[in-house]
Amino acid sequence: MSIPIYTYDAIVVGAGLAGCAAARELQTAGKKVAVITKLHPLRSHSGAAQGGVNAAFSDEDSIELHEFDTVKGSDYLADQDAVEFMCKNAPETIRWAERMGAAFSRTPDGKIAQRPFGGQSSPRACYAKDRTGLTLLQTIYEQADRAGVKFWDEWYAADIIYKDGKVSGVVAFNIRDMQMAIFNAKSVMFATGGYARCYKINSNAHANTGDGLSIVARHGIPLEDMEFVQFHPSGLSGNGVLISEAARGEGGRLYNSKGERFMEKYAPNALELASRDVVSRAILNEIREGRGVGPRKDAVYLDVTHLGKDLIMERLPELRELAITFLGLDMIKEPILISATAHYSMGGIPVNIAGNVRKNNDELIEGFYAAGECSCVSVHGANRLGANSVLEALLFGRYVGKTMVAEVDNIELRPATEEDAQTTLKEIDFILNNNGDERVTQIREELQQAMTANAGAFRTEETIKDAIKTVKELRERFKNIRIKDKSKVFNTELQEAIELGHMLDYSLFIVESALPRKESRGAHYREDFQERDDKNWLKHTMAYMDENGDIKLDYMDVVLGKHELKARNY
Ligand SMILES: Cc1cc2nc3c(=O)[nH]c(=O)nc-3n(C[C@H](O)[C@H](O)[C@H](O)COP(=O)(O)OP(=O)(O)OC[C@H]3O[C@@H](n4cnc5c(N)ncnc54)[C@H](O)[C@@H]3O)c2cc1C
Repeated sequence: MSIPIYTYDAIVVGAGLAGCAAARELQTAGKKVAVITKLHPLRSHSGAAQGGVNAAFSDEDSIELHEFDTVKGSDYLADQDAVEFMCKNAPETIRWAERMGAAFSRTPDGKIAQRPFGGQSSPRACYAKDRTGLTLLQTIYEQADRAGVKFWDEWYAADIIYKDGKVSGVVAFNIRDMQMAIFNAKSVMFATGGYARCYKINSNAHANTGDGLSIVARHGIPLEDMEFVQFHPSGLSGNGVLISEAARGEGGRLYNSKGERFMEKYAPNALELASRDVVSRAILNEIREGRGVGPRKDAVYLDVTHLGKDLIMERLPELRELAITFLGLDMIKEPILISATAHYSMGGIPVNIAGNVRKNNDELIEGFYAAGECSCVSVHGANRLGANSVLEALLFGRYVGKTMVAEVDNIELRPATEEDAQTTLKEIDFILNNNGDERVTQIREELQQAMTANAGAFRTEETIKDAIKTVKELRERFKNIRIKDKSKVFNTELQEAIELGHMLDYSLFIVESALPRKESRGAHYREDFQERDDKNWLKHTMAYMDENGDIKLDYMDVVLGKHELKARNY
């Protein structure tokens, strides 16, 4: 079979907010750009963002307060130069999105409305009802499409072409008919989103299988701070579907089985609006100590009834629908059942502020960029504040697009050959024809159970070691898989097998990075080391996969700045 080679100035993988924003920049600057996406762009997980997007522009707020809240929220692991860049450019990013056509909710006097979110000193989250991500994604996608960006949707990116410190393209196949193609380009950007699907209870779309991370890691490119996975306090009980922080931002309260508003114990000042790691652990602790509610006693109550029907229908209509659909509970009339859900990945592909991917602590990779949730810049450090990641995706997506415009003409195109598709051809051949006795669904289930039980919101040395053992065993068993569907038309079983391979690889990064970090910081909470240890652990983890598939760890300095290290109380 001959493999077509398409040539572009730039290839963007991913069509969420980060990918669409970058592609539009490239296209409007006259560069030839294509976006490869395994989903239709509007099905990207960005469209599921409910609550809001941060920018400090009200009279009571300031850029400096936004910076401070973000750095404090990150438990001081965020790089302060990146945080400054993001917070400074946030108001302009909102105005840009609005000029593109995004309709934000308004105050009675016509200004963009802003709601309070956890860990923030001032109401800062701009929103479009509780459909903020969908509004923004539709807008930015439409504008990218209008500018003439070529979208290759339902194409699966399976590999990058990486040699001699330079990326020069992507190998992908058409999900519809398995047609393979090589996309040869001077520059490539990854905007492949998050990866919480490796946990059993999670808020993420089915597509959030961290492909981008494992694809680059298999080439020996490092992944940064992978131990920090955020658990959101309010997933619907039983399935983890997200009930946005907007519910607590608008005034929602949490109660245990004794009717106690238990956040009074854990965060006496901020209560339900403490940062996410703090509220999630409080909820899980109440459940562990026997004060859970619901048929399995594995939830707590989230009560918004006191807000009244009008406010709920005006600002939280989608959340109400979700609770009715999945739990049969109407939040206008009664409290709903929620618990913590795996939600967001702070770690990812390491990049500098301009979006260039790091080869190691000192060197950058030529022609390779990343932005959005798959990247680690790092503005969220050990814990992300609500409404900062839609901001990150939009803002860095757009600015990394600008970096690519500025750099692309100085990069020489390295011509691709069919040889570059060999790894992908072998991977697909193995999955289609391997005749073992392991099933994809079974291995995935065991992975998700192990990650939730042993590498979740609470960890100890013992549980993490257990998780490492399980992930390694599952990777061995994966070598023995067999899929039933051998067809070439929409072979979702094949795709899920490839995705499972990715999930197994990045999960190993999560647990191997978590083991030596003998402290508790942000989302990484060690019951055996409950204090933050700045003397030994104020540093980023840089993890590398070697040729045998083993993980080697290194560390990188945190960029400190004007916000001095303090104890984090809410
Ligand atoms: C339910 C939910 C609610 C949220 N609410 C908020 C909120 O209110 N405020 C906030 O700030 N943040 C929120 N977040 C987080 C935020 O939405 C995301 O971090 C952000 O939108 C990620 O954008 P992205 O562009 O990086 O990736 P995504 O929007 O996830 O897009 C990823 C893209 O990569 C493509 N892709 C992935 N792998 C491949 C592959 N192998 N081949 C081809 N294409 C591939 C997909 O097709 C997709 O187009 C929420 C997240 C969830 C899950």
